[in-house]
Amino acid sequence: MEKGQYWNEKIETLPTEEIKKLQLQKLREQVKHCYENSSFYRKKFDSVNLKPEDIKTLDDLKKIPFTVKSDLKENYPFGMVTVPSDEIVEVHASSGTTGNPIVGAYTKGDMEMWQEIMARSIYTAGGRRQDVIHIAYGYGLFTGGLGFHYGVQKLGAKIVPASGGMTQRQIKLMKDLGVTMLACTPSFAVYLAETMAQEGVVPQRDLKLKRGMFGAEPWSDKIRERIQKDLGIEAFDVYGLTELCGPGVSVECNQHDGLHIWEDHFIVETIDPNTGESLPNGEEGELVFTTLTKTGMPMLRYRTRDISKINREKCKCGRTHARMQRITGRSDDMLIIRGVNVFPSQVEYAVMCFSELATQYLIVVDRPGALDTFVVKVELCEKACKDTQLDRNSLKSEIQKRIHIVTGISADVEIVKPGELPRTEGKAKRVLDLRKGKM
Ligand SMILES: [Zn+2]
Repeated sequence: MEKGQYWNEKIETLPTEEIKKLQLQKLREQVKHCYENSSFYRKKFDSVNLKPEDIKTLDDLKKIPFTVKSDLKENYPFGMVTVPSDEIVEVHASSGTTGNPIVGAYTKGDMEMWQEIMARSIYTAGGRRQDVIHIAYGYGLFTGGLGFHYGVQKLGAKIVPASGGMTQRQIKLMKDLGVTMLACTPSFAVYLAETMAQEGVVPQRDLKLKRGMFGAEPWSDKIRERIQKDLGIEAFDVYGLTELCGPGVSVECNQHDGLHIWEDHFIVETIDPNTGESLPNGEEGELVFTTLTKTGMPMLRYRTRDISKINREKCKCGRTHARMQRITGRSDDMLIIRGVNVFPSQVEYAVMCFSELATQYLIVVDRPGALDTFVVKVELCEKACKDTQLDRNSLKSEIQKRIHIVTGISADVEIVKPGELPRTEGKAKRVLDLRKGKM
C-alpha cells in the first residue's frame, strides 16, 4: 500500500501542543529510567539535588546537567548503558580525534526506533518502495552504512550495499542496476560525479538517478549546487550522530529550508556554547539533544558541539516538527583559514582520493604576515615512492585541485616520503595551528 506524502502522517503532522504533551510524558519516563538504572545519571542528578519527580514541565529539562562527549569517553565502553548487558543487541562506534572511541549501544527496541526514523527520513527525502537505493556510506562500526541499510529495509526498497571504495565499479553498478537514489557523504558524491565525467558517463543520460541523501560531514550550498548539477539530482541533507543513534535524527523535506528533527524521539535545545545558557528559537548556538525513546544508552541533554539554529515556523510541507538549519561545522574541529571554515575531514577526504598517498596527513596553518598560510603535508605510499615513472609535480597539482574543490580555498601541498609524518599512539595529530598566540 502506498503511503502518500508522509511515512507516518499522524506523527509527522501532529499539532505542536500534542508533540509537547507526548514529549513531556516520554521525558518523565526517560528521566526515571536513567535515574533508576544508571549510576552516572544518578550522580549527575544528586550533584544538583534533583529528583526525577522534579521534572514536571518541559522547561524543567533545563535543571538537568549536560552530558558531554568526555562523559562517554570516561565511561567507555558500557558505563552509560542503562539496561542489563544481554539486552544490548548491537554496538556502533565513531572515531574520536583522541582517546577512546564514542560507543553507541542499542537494545532491540532502539534498533527498531532507529530503523523507523531512518525509513521516515528516506521517505521524507522522496524515497519510495520502487526505488533502487545505492548506499555508499561505509559499512561497519560507522553508523552511516548500516543506518541507511536498516532504513531502506524498513521502507522496502531495493538496497545496493556498495559501501566505500572501488569507484569505477560503483558507477558501473549504478548504471546496470538502475539506481534511482544515492546515499553517501557529500564529498564522495562530488568524487563520483568527477569520476563519471572522466569515464564519459553522463548521469542525466546513462543513469536513472533522481535524488540523493548526503550527510556525516559539513557541506556548503556550493557543494550542493555542484552535486545537483553534476549528477542531475535533487540533494537532501540528513543529520545524526552515533551518540543519539546515527543518521535519521533530522532530514530535509522537499522545501529544502532546514532539517525536520523527529521530535517524537528527540528534544532539541540550543545553548550558548560558552556559557551553557539556553537560547531562544532562531538564535544560533550549540545543539543539545535529549533522546526520549532510546533505552539502551539514553542521552539526557547531550551537547553535540554542532552549531545551528532552530526554526519552529510551520513548514510548507505540512510537517509540524521543528527544523534545524544545516550544520555548517562542528565547533570542536573547525579551522578558520582566510575567513573560510575548513574541516580536517574535508582534507582527509581529498587525501583518500589518491591511491599514490598513504592515509597520513598533516595540516599546518600559520600567519607569518597578514594572510593565513595553509599547507597540507601528505605521504607517498611505499609503492608510489618506488615508482620511477611517477610525476610528482602533476600529482601535487591534482591534490591541490582536489583540496580546493572540497574546501573552497587553495592549499600548498608538500609530498613527503613514507613514514616521514609524525605518528603518535591512537589517532595521529592532524592539525598544527601555529597561529595560536598570534591572534
Ligand atoms: Zn518541511
